[in-house]
Amino acid sequence: MRWSKSLIPTLKEDPADAEAISHRLMVRAGLVRQLAAGIYVYLPLGQRVMDKVNAIIREEINAIGGQEITMPVLHPAELWQQSGRWDAIGDEMFRLKDRYQRDLCLGMTHEEVIAWMAAHEVHSYRDLPQLWYQIQTKERDEARPKSGVLRTREFVMKDSYSLDRDMAGLDAQYEAHRQAYCKIFDRSGLRYIVVESDPGMMGGAGSHEFMAQSPAGEDQVALCGSCGYAANLELALSRPPAPPFPPPSAGLEEVPTPNARTIAEVSALLKIEPALTIKSLVVVGKDGPALALVRGDQQLRERKLERVLGPFRPAHGDEVRDAVGVEAGFVGPVGLRIRIIADECLRTGCYVVGANKPDAHLRGVVPGRDFQAEFADLHEANAGDGCGRCGAPLTIERVIEVGNIFKLGIKYSVPLRAVYLDEQGQERPIVMGSYGIGPARIAAAAIEQNHDKDGIIWPDTIAPLQIHLLVVNAKEPKMATLAEQLYADMNGAGLEVLYDDRDERPGVKFKDADLLGLPLRVTVGSRAVKEGRVEIRRRRTGEEVAVAPGEVVTSAQRLLGRPA
Ligand code: ATP
Ligand code: MG
Repeated sequence: MRWSKSLIPTLKEDPADAEAISHRLMVRAGLVRQLAAGIYVYLPLGQRVMDKVNAIIREEINAIGGQEITMPVLHPAELWQQSGRWDAIGDEMFRLKDRYQRDLCLGMTHEEVIAWMAAHEVHSYRDLPQLWYQIQTKERDEARPKSGVLRTREFVMKDSYSLDRDMAGLDAQYEAHRQAYCKIFDRSGLRYIVVESDPGMMGGAGSHEFMAQSPAGEDQVALCGSCGYAANLELALSRPPAPPFPPPSAGLEEVPTPNARTIAEVSALLKIEPALTIKSLVVVGKDGPALALVRGDQQLRERKLERVLGPFRPAHGDEVRDAVGVEAGFVGPVGLRIRIIADECLRTGCYVVGANKPDAHLRGVVPGRDFQAEFADLHEANAGDGCGRCGAPLTIERVIEVGNIFKLGIKYSVPLRAVYLDEQGQERPIVMGSYGIGPARIAAAAIEQNHDKDGIIWPDTIAPLQIHLLVVNAKEPKMATLAEQLYADMNGAGLEVLYDDRDERPGVKFKDADLLGLPLRVTVGSRAVKEGRVEIRRRRTGEEVAVAPGEVVTSAQRLLGRPA
């Protein structure tokens, strides 16, 4: 690839709107351009990275028996109505009508189409198991497209779907995917962790996420260095350290707390730690108002409450007054007649809570004695909390979700009538699994994890090309001739070379080479002409060797770990 004839529009400055490092570097290195919010063009070098990542994915999914297909982006509404997701999914789904006013949507994911296919093409137990996959565009009207290609409204996904007779079959294909995913992320040069996750809108019997560590990530995971527990913060279990509780009270004491509404105000006024208070949150679920309780120093994790209560929202001011008889700030669980769900760590201790009267709180409240509640894990795990499994201290890390695997079970096969006949001629629902990977997130996560102040440092396996051939002065005939020769030699040997043959100042060219971050830079400068030495430099380490022109190919192959 000759730079002078290619579209590689590098930029000196960071784009104004970009925060994530991968976003800045992908734009500056001329890999992508934003067409509109969350909609990107992949330029030639960006496309090459995607091709590399997709090739790795294809090899590993083929190796576990995947059969590649392509399903449409445009879907009839009926399939999504049958699964129930036409109504269950909100604004994230792009919907449209055709000329006959029929409802259609753009595919966010393809469980429905797979179940439709299975309903038509799978008849008997002899047709199972199956593993179908595609590398296809998805459309999602994300609420907050951001961080460049990490969260876009149009993106490519590798999605595979397993079809089995029973849970044992699903377990086997699930495990095969887990291992294939590890190979894919290892080969892509990512640091990642596999965590338990919340099946969310997919539903089903279990799921894991593959998380690449990066401050640009939108997800957080809790990790235990002692027992290896790793879980998305949406469901991570932890045991917060207990505060120094006062001796058990004989009874309740009402204390005046004029204008002290927040936990901070109440604990300051009463001169106690926030952990000795209880936060009472009135919410409205489908069965009406309910009270959620977490310790004063803890945060409620909404997804955790949603798993107990179903969809809910915070109550409005008048709803709080109707349900409790007092305004927010003085609400507490004692004497209330609505459903109360309390965080697990409130099973023990003695607390200050709202008195359900204006300007007053109750001291000495013992859960279980002074009020009854359902207990559930509601609080967000914090760094330093005890691991929910072994008690050792947890750490919290920010991560990018690069892939996930779900045991769907029969959630889609039942409504879409994807069934097979077993040996006895009995009709049974097909047991499904679904497995996603975002190639753009792999590329961006690789940049997040591999860069320096000068630019990208690509892992060899997913670099757009392997070698950056740089001629210091393209107008100097001897240099140009030698560079041309090396370009031909390396191409002939099957190496992937970007040849910077531009008539640009050397400083500009060296800066661009660091920005693009190809694994090896081969420099043809005056030393090459005078001494017959060509420099080969590793982008990652800065190590440099000088070799004779005739040795460039073999040296490069050796450095790239490729036998000649
Ligand atoms: P997130 O929680 O980050 O929104 P998700 O759970 O919605 O992701 P899935 O629907 O399971 O993701 O999609 C499978 C994979 O597709 C994800 O692991 C991720 O790599 C990728 N992906 C999902 N949404 C996007 C997006 N908006 N932009 C780019 N890649 C995405
Ligand atoms: Mg999503």
